[in-house]
Amino acid sequence: MTHELRRRVAVTLGLIAAAEALRWIPVPGVDPRAFLGFAAVMPGARIFHELAGRASIGTLGVGPYLSASILAVLIFLARRRGSPGETTGYPFEAHALWIALPIALVQGLAYAVFLQNLGRLPVVPSPGPAFLATAALTIAAGAMLMAALARLISRHGVGNGLCVLLGAQLARSQSSRHAADWLDGGRGLHHNAPALGLLVAAFLLMAVLWLSARWTVAESSPADAPGAADPWWLRANVTGVAGLALAKSVLALPVILASYLVRGAFTPTWVLELDPARPAGAVAFVALSILATWLFTTWALAPARLVLALPVAGEDKPEGGFGERTFERRALGATFWFAVGAPVAVVLFGWATRRLGAPGLSATALAVLAAVTLDTFHQFRTHAAMARALAAPAGERNCGVCGGLLAGDEAFCPACGAAFEDAPACGAHPGEPALARCVVCAQSLCGDCALERDGRSVCGEHAGVAFVEGWAVAAVAETPVEAEGLRRRLAAAGVEGRLLVGTCAALQGTLGLYDLTPVVPLVAHPSCGGGLVRVLVRPGEYGRAAELLAAPAD
Ligand SMILES: [Zn+2]
Ligand SMILES: [Zn+2]
Ligand SMILES: [Zn+2]
Repeated sequence: MTHELRRRVAVTLGLIAAAEALRWIPVPGVDPRAFLGFAAVMPGARIFHELAGRASIGTLGVGPYLSASILAVLIFLARRRGSPGETTGYPFEAHALWIALPIALVQGLAYAVFLQNLGRLPVVPSPGPAFLATAALTIAAGAMLMAALARLISRHGVGNGLCVLLGAQLARSQSSRHAADWLDGGRGLHHNAPALGLLVAAFLLMAVLWLSARWTVAESSPADAPGAADPWWLRANVTGVAGLALAKSVLALPVILASYLVRGAFTPTWVLELDPARPAGAVAFVALSILATWLFTTWALAPARLVLALPVAGEDKPEGGFGERTFERRALGATFWFAVGAPVAVVLFGWATRRLGAPGLSATALAVLAAVTLDTFHQFRTHAAMARALAAPAGERNCGVCGGLLAGDEAFCPACGAAFEDAPACGAHPGEPALARCVVCAQSLCGDCALERDGRSVCGEHAGVAFVEGWAVAAVAETPVEAEGLRRRLAAAGVEGRLLVGTCAALQGTLGLYDLTPVVPLVAHPSCGGGLVRVLVRPGEYGRAAELLAAPAD
């Protein structure tokens, strides 16, 4: 692991810890011990804990930000006029942050009212408008802080921040639910050994099931393409979670409405039958999931959108050549099996968890968790591969500034640009000794001329260039397909490009959802959580890459 990668991993772990710490800071005005005492005597304490958390300021998690990101997409679609492919320039991420604030305030207020109304035990010693206002504000601040942490992870850590934080949240809830199952039942560990085995097996099964061969247009990439050397299970993509989630919410809707409107006086029996644990509910769940997954996927992979995406990429059709029709046929074929397999597997898994005494485990949560884990690991591997590609072949010395390996007698560190003993004088000020050279244009720089960007030395002209693992960001694309097109344009001119796809696709991706269409309703925008689709080149080739990408595609 390089210096930068070690730092990125440390930053990611530290920010996850910070997000978890927010869940331990109580809401001001709440007596945490009274709250926990109340939670312990409530019937269904486990569910209560799940819903109410610890009455902390981090209780909303990244939820408001995620909802806001989906709303930003819907608002964009409502306002869109003209070309359906036009997405560039719309500030999704900034809009999502603005929309998240009122959502967090409303949810914070609702939670404060809930705490205040908890009943006889004095959970809130001095209730009233003052408590409600401070509680709502601090809970909202906690949610906005979570959004900021997600963006920081995307920028300075590894993986998409939103995915990573939600993954941590799911990992905690799945394991703590399981622990609660043990405690609730009061049974010995030997009774639950099958359930523990199930937890591990389920994770592996979900990883294999959902993360089967990543099927994208990039499938036909030449062998030297980044990612081509990854094992098949790492090139995998989550499929169908968006469809499963939609089916689940649709089925839950009548139950929720019945509990609010009918108040138990009259609960139609068909509402209860909608529980996926019952045969009728299971059939409805599978049917709805298939329909939703199929709709999402065909929408995302509509040939009209493919046609829109590829001219941006500068090619009629990808190399190795399949056209629209083949593309559509393959997409529908792949979708069909995932659309059918995923909900059936979820129903079977639910049945197994009830039989084995671990009803707290959720197949959908485990699927998302597996997807987030593999997606983050995939990004980690991309970082490591980029760092390896830039490392000096046989390093004897270490650079004192960046820790990079040096081949021997260089005047400047090839990784960060720091100057060593016999470096030539500054290009602009011949009397001044050089402290560094620009990693982009190789110009010698004195203390006044040298600037620092992402741990690399640059000149004034290249101060705007961003770096990841020493590679310069040549372009930011809306979708991986567009990025792949840009990479091929560079490759055709002999410039090596690498792709770093840091979107929240793993969260609820249906096959192809993020690969072609950045804007699909009910799905968070790819830039959510600070994610980006980046095309990176070696810093020395940045100038040429920028020239090539600025020229219109032929
Ligand atoms: Zn260095
Ligand atoms: Zn320069
Ligand atoms: Zn100078």
